[in-house]
Amino acid sequence: MKRVLITGAAGFLGSHLCERFLKEGMYVIGMDNLITGDMRNIEHLMPDPNFEFNHHDVTKYVHVPGELDYIMHFASPASPIDYLKIPIQTLKVGAMGTHNLLGLARAKKSRFIIASTSEVYGDPLVHPQTEDYWGHVNPIGPRGCYDEAKRYQEAITMAYHRYHGLETRIVRIFNTYGPRMRLNDGRVLPAFMGQALRGEDITVFGDGSQTRSFCYVDDLVEGIYRLLMSDYSLPVNIGNPKEITIGQFAEEIIKLTGTDQKVVYKPLPQDDPKQRQPDISKAKEILGWEPKVSREEGLRITYDYFRSLPKERLYEESNHRGFEGFSANK
Ligand code: NAD
Ligand code: UDP
Repeated sequence: MKRVLITGAAGFLGSHLCERFLKEGMYVIGMDNLITGDMRNIEHLMPDPNFEFNHHDVTKYVHVPGELDYIMHFASPASPIDYLKIPIQTLKVGAMGTHNLLGLARAKKSRFIIASTSEVYGDPLVHPQTEDYWGHVNPIGPRGCYDEAKRYQEAITMAYHRYHGLETRIVRIFNTYGPRMRLNDGRVLPAFMGQALRGEDITVFGDGSQTRSFCYVDDLVEGIYRLLMSDYSLPVNIGNPKEITIGQFAEEIIKLTGTDQKVVYKPLPQDDPKQRQPDISKAKEILGWEPKVSREEGLRITYDYFRSLPKERLYEESNHRGFEGFSANK
């Protein structure tokens, strides 16, 4: 039985990856310090004999007994609100966390994949973004803690690949959404859906002309799985190339939720990228991958999920839920 370590397991993407790798018949070790994650995302996996959870901060020495075929480093605050609140932890998990996990991968002879991001392109001057574009990043602006941590993460991963011959993969993830996003993490989709469900105005930042391209989580997970199983070690964009302005996105959410919320305009955060759209030619060619889920379908599934949550979750200040009560750690 193949064994995989997934960091950030209690987060949005990590929890979906744990599910997928269990379905593939692997033994999954989820690791998380719950700084932005939530045990409720993986509660349902705890009874599975092929799953174990390790409550640990990966910026500290990482010890995992036994063999590891794959290490997937997905731990990192990911929403602008989160990483503005905890910039130093964000830098540390990208730098020290990645270094620790690369060391572990070397010791265990594991294949290693990191969750990089479209943020490595910054506020891009090339559109759509291809993997060979080096980016336009402000290292000292508020987003610098995240963007530069991710750029360093790519650099050290390539160094371990070139110097130590480690098998490495780099996925550059573009805006992804789906069930188990945190309603209050400030990212645009949970922000808009939470506002609609609470009957609040929809807050569009700037004039709403900035663009994003939203990928449904199942499509992303399929792309990541294919990349990990491939023999390609340079970065690959995974995302949905269907681009939309944030203003249009707000209208779509209002239509979907059937609410009559008003749109209100708030100042655009500093260094907010004006446009973002993945060029996925590489993923198509190398992995035979492209997204399958339309925005209409993905948004409906996600909205149904948010609607199914107990009402009080709509008003949670912070979802931080400690490890107490989850004694199934093996
Ligand atoms: P998330 O905040 O839901 O999950 C991140 C998880 O990492 C959380 O459970 C958190 O507690 C954990 N974590 C953070 N620091 C840690 C540490 N030091 N030790 C152990 N665990 C720690 O975010 P997400 O959206 O699931 O993002 C997962 C990864 O994917 C991140 O690396 C992020 O940068 C990357 N990514 C996500 C997107 C997206 O659209 N969701 C886009 C680009 C990149
Ligand atoms: N945004 C917005 N209203 C909100 C939250 C976000 O208009 O309540 C905008 C934000 O300024 C950005 C886009 O939506 O232009 C996507 O923001 P998000 O935080 O989801 O991710 P980003 O792609 O900026 O990392």
